[in-house]
Amino acid sequence: MLQAISFLCVLALSPSILCAQQLDFKATGAPLKAESADPQITAALRRVSVDVIHRNIEKLVAFNNRNTLSSMETDLPEGTGITAAAAWIKAQFEAYSAQCGGCLEVKEDTYIEPAGKPGFGNSAPRIAKPTRLTTVYAVLKGTDPAQSQRRYLVTGHYDTRITDVMDDHSFAPGANDDSSGTAVSLECARVLSRQRFPATLVFVAVPGEEQALNGSKHLAELAKAENWDLEGVLNNDIVGGNTTPGETHQSKSLVRVFSENVPASATPSEVRRILSLGVESDSPSREIAREITAVARTYFPSAIPSQALKPVLELRLDRYLRGGDHRSFNEEGFAAARLTEWREDFNHQHQKVRVENGVEYGDLIKFDDFAYIAKIARLNIAVLATMASAPGMPIHVRMLTRNLDNDSIIRFEAPAGAPASTWFKLVWRETSVSDWQYGAKASLYKEQVAGMEHTITVPVSKDNVIFGLRSCDAAGHCSSAVTPLP
Ligand SMILES: [Zn+2]
Repeated sequence: MLQAISFLCVLALSPSILCAQQLDFKATGAPLKAESADPQITAALRRVSVDVIHRNIEKLVAFNNRNTLSSMETDLPEGTGITAAAAWIKAQFEAYSAQCGGCLEVKEDTYIEPAGKPGFGNSAPRIAKPTRLTTVYAVLKGTDPAQSQRRYLVTGHYDTRITDVMDDHSFAPGANDDSSGTAVSLECARVLSRQRFPATLVFVAVPGEEQALNGSKHLAELAKAENWDLEGVLNNDIVGGNTTPGETHQSKSLVRVFSENVPASATPSEVRRILSLGVESDSPSREIAREITAVARTYFPSAIPSQALKPVLELRLDRYLRGGDHRSFNEEGFAAARLTEWREDFNHQHQKVRVENGVEYGDLIKFDDFAYIAKIARLNIAVLATMASAPGMPIHVRMLTRNLDNDSIIRFEAPAGAPASTWFKLVWRETSVSDWQYGAKASLYKEQVAGMEHTITVPVSKDNVIFGLRSCDAAGHCSSAVTPLP
């Protein structure tokens, strides 16, 4: 109630007049609430099918072994191995495209990975001889010529492994790692290809993750070489909601979201600046992670327990000593985050399928929870649809520091191609807090507009909070935030 009253104070008087006895950062905005839901996105979420996801994972598992190295084997039974899996994934994208009048451009990125490069963490090489890799992807081109350059990408890896990462013949189902993520990419393509968005969406399945992130690295390098304006990557890896009898710590209403702190692509001087300003938790990748929490507030209300899904910000690149394909995109300078189930079962990943001392090992389909994977697909769909509908992020977002005082003067410009109805939302949080807490329309503050350039004076000390600025459209789709820097 207090906070509501203080926000009314701001509206009624002037943002520069604080209501009595309130700290500036609480008195000057309102606690963040969910944006209103877009009926089109709500309709898309209803089209997600648990059965389709289940069937797709069954099909992926039926390729027996999707080890990346299997592409070079000539003794595999017909219809098994990673090459057959790639052809099937491509055929799925093509079938979805046929249902939308050819709306998807289905592509392959095929190349030969040389032998002998070190594996993850400088481990022994995991590619013994030159090996053919094929990334399969589908592009849903944006409809607004002024905004279609912007791309948002969802990926999962379709290769698998067992205990011996070089074994490309034994049963290696990978039902969770990462048939689940591959099924999410496919379901996003199937559902979202029924709609059109101003910006472009890319649906991806990569090989090579288990060898050394090779497939995603090659695609990220291609994206860089082709100058993709790639503004966000969602990497779904191990989102199967592992269900082991007796496991009491799994949660089907949580999903972890990992994202880098200081960008992998930052130069040494950029790193020094980031650390000196205390914005090491505001990389573009972290802002994508916060976009995921914001979208979840709108589309996954916790009031209905079976539908609730709460993304948990994990303020690190990945799980301990492990990697994933988002890292490949980070290294090329793109913002990317990883979604992973709340609690993994290490008996059910990277293990030869067997029973030992009564314990069942192996990444088997019976441990997948298809309803959970469907929820993860819905979260991805809501995030992709929101970002592709919203204007691009504001640009040239700066903190003006000519006078060091208790106000914060922020200058920014509308992104290229932003529709006339674009408005800007200022958000902030205390420096000790991981997600945005407060926000208000930027136009509520003392604002000067000169051409494309907006300057706002906010009566909150920049020393005690971290700000972010989002671009929003009239329907309430908001971009991820940009943190102003001096
Ligand atoms: Zn994986």
